[in-house]
Amino acid sequence: MMLREVADGVHRLEHAYVNVYVVEQEGRLLVVDTGLPATWRVLGEALRRLGHRPSDVAAAVLTHAHFDHTGSAAMVRSRLGVPIWLHEEDFTIAADPYRYAHENARAIYPLRYPRSLRGLASMTAAGALSVRGVEGLRPLRPGVELLVPGRPQVVFTPGHTFGHCALHLAERDVLITGDALVTLDPYTGRRGPQIIAGAATADSAQALASLERLVPCDSGSTVLLPGHGEPWSGGVAAAVERARAVGAH
Ligand SMILES: [Zn+2]
Ligand SMILES: [Zn+2]
Repeated sequence: MMLREVADGVHRLEHAYVNVYVVEQEGRLLVVDTGLPATWRVLGEALRRLGHRPSDVAAAVLTHAHFDHTGSAAMVRSRLGVPIWLHEEDFTIAADPYRYAHENARAIYPLRYPRSLRGLASMTAAGALSVRGVEGLRPLRPGVELLVPGRPQVVFTPGHTFGHCALHLAERDVLITGDALVTLDPYTGRRGPQIIAGAATADSAQALASLERLVPCDSGSTVLLPGHGEPWSGGVAAAVERARAVGAH
């Protein structure tokens, strides 16, 4: 695992090529996305390193319900007993993690993009094939400021999944983009700002159109924190432009 403070009180925990973000506010924590099943143990270790206890976690938010972001959500819910927010459109995927819409057959990607193999193998080793469903989630409301540590504004960015949301932490100058805009696509191994391949994206045209909604969050120095890959500090508009240039794939 890799743990690093990427903005004021915002920590990036990278495990098996998936990012989890821990946001601190006055000793209380928000966990954004929960990684894979094996990430649960890693998250505990990360909290210890940050000088926190599991009981400091006040809430969790899921940007969307894909298995690589909800893998530890059932544990977070049952062991920490904290509320978890997710857009309602993704509730059915959360309950049944392997039934999600995607445009292209997944099996062709490792053959076409051999660079993706390491990441996919690492995700599998972290339990990608044994994610439990999670229910009892709270509906994430777009346009609303959520009263959890970091006070994120919910930015609806459908396309990757139909309920995908980004989180804008204006006070920290941070935009958590989840899988709406990533800097590493685990399905192709390609780096740089882009939407995720059709192997895991429900509607690429909609995903590309949703990028427009990220642009107003840009203060000029906003750090973009994706679901996969490194943080991007080259500006939200520039990241969006690059992602559009890459396009659907
Ligand atoms: Zn995803
Ligand atoms: Zn993902």
